[in-house]
Amino acid sequence: MARAVVVGAGLGGLASAIALRRRGWDVTVLERRAHAAEAGAGIALWPNALRALDVLGLGARTRELGTVEIGGGIRTSSGRWLVRTDAADLARRQGDGVVVLPRPELHALLRAAAPDLREGLGVRRVDPGGAGAPAVVHDEAGGRHEAELVVAADGVRSTVRAYWPEATVRDTGHTAFRLVARHRLDAGGESWGRGDLVGLAPLPRGRTYLYAMVPTADVSAGDPLPWLRARLAGWHDPIPAVLDAVDGRVLVHRLEDLRPPSSWHHGRVALLGDAAHAMTPNLGQGAAQAFLDAVVLAEEATADPASLAAYERRRRPVAEAVARRSRAAGDVAAWRSPLAVALRNAVVGALPAAASARALDHLLGTPATTKEMA
Ligand SMILES: Cc1cc2nc3c(=O)[nH]c(=O)nc-3n(C[C@H](O)[C@H](O)[C@H](O)COP(=O)(O)OP(=O)(O)OC[C@H]3O[C@@H](n4cnc5c(N)ncnc54)[C@H](O)[C@@H]3O)c2cc1C
Repeated sequence: MARAVVVGAGLGGLASAIALRRRGWDVTVLERRAHAAEAGAGIALWPNALRALDVLGLGARTRELGTVEIGGGIRTSSGRWLVRTDAADLARRQGDGVVVLPRPELHALLRAAAPDLREGLGVRRVDPGGAGAPAVVHDEAGGRHEAELVVAADGVRSTVRAYWPEATVRDTGHTAFRLVARHRLDAGGESWGRGDLVGLAPLPRGRTYLYAMVPTADVSAGDPLPWLRARLAGWHDPIPAVLDAVDGRVLVHRLEDLRPPSSWHHGRVALLGDAAHAMTPNLGQGAAQAFLDAVVLAEEATADPASLAAYERRRRPVAEAVARRSRAAGDVAAWRSPLAVALRNAVVGALPAAASARALDHLLGTPATTKEMA
């Protein structure tokens, strides 16, 4: 049986371990953290992510764990709707709505299905191997692991990506806040202010997932919740009420993305997930693209390292285009000048619904194209 070592047990690494195992690989997952639980409030899974999870045998359970997003759209900070989206129409076109669930529950689901997970064992470096020789993974405890395939799923600051020095991390100049609140939402979606953005999505059991993105220079040190409440004090309902009902910690992250690597494979090493295409969260596509990587890598990879070219050919153009669109969407949402904001709101508000739907379907692919993967 051909051997695969997956480096990193985030959402992408676990998905690729499951996908490769299903295709008959002998898989080992090496994870640096002692217990690879995911922190994080909620995660939104668009229909393309759900279709990839279907291929892994986990789609039905994911849909059960999550809440299908209620109607939403884009509002101004005062609550005026610029665009309204119809969840039923998305489901009609795509076969699914957006499923939102607690991120730790999604990670636990993948973790339970993943083969041979070794936690607390980081990877120091990888000899990439080639046609005549296996790759060798060197762990931080001095161990060696030979493999016909190494999946670099070790995130935006990947160690294994050392062979791609051009792929450096970019600071977007924004900071994200994420939290869960005891609040039942009537409508979800995003609200755009001047430089700030707030997203609301329903979670199961009457909870709300709120995320906010603000320019980094404005973020104060100390407890983030009072700071965020003051920052969003004048925003429309129910944002202040959600911030008064926070349950648990507020997570704060600087937002980064990746300058694209010049290729996705080297010897027997394949890049996957954030290690290949870390993107801003504006389109909610980072994990979705990682799941699609996992499905396609398992379809294409064989013990012959030349097979990795087909993986790159099928996935790289799509994932990089999504990353570019995500960054562009973040840039537009972050405009601050009153004139630019007024113009943006007018243009977004005037977009015909059919054009928005077409653009979204282009981003997500179609149920038929993903079915070919199964
Ligand atoms: C604010 C925010 C909101 C987001 N919201 C969404 C959303 O709604 N929908 C969506 O689809 N995506 C979303 N994303 C993107 C998504 O979270 C990521 O794209 C996804 O989690 C990437 O998974 P990954 O497995 O590639 O990387 P990671 O999750 O970074 O996992 C990498 C793993 O590798 C381990 N590791 C690192 N180095 C080593 C080493 N040397 N040896 C061994 N292990 C190592 C790490 O400990 C970690 O467990 C969001 C991202 C952010 C920042």
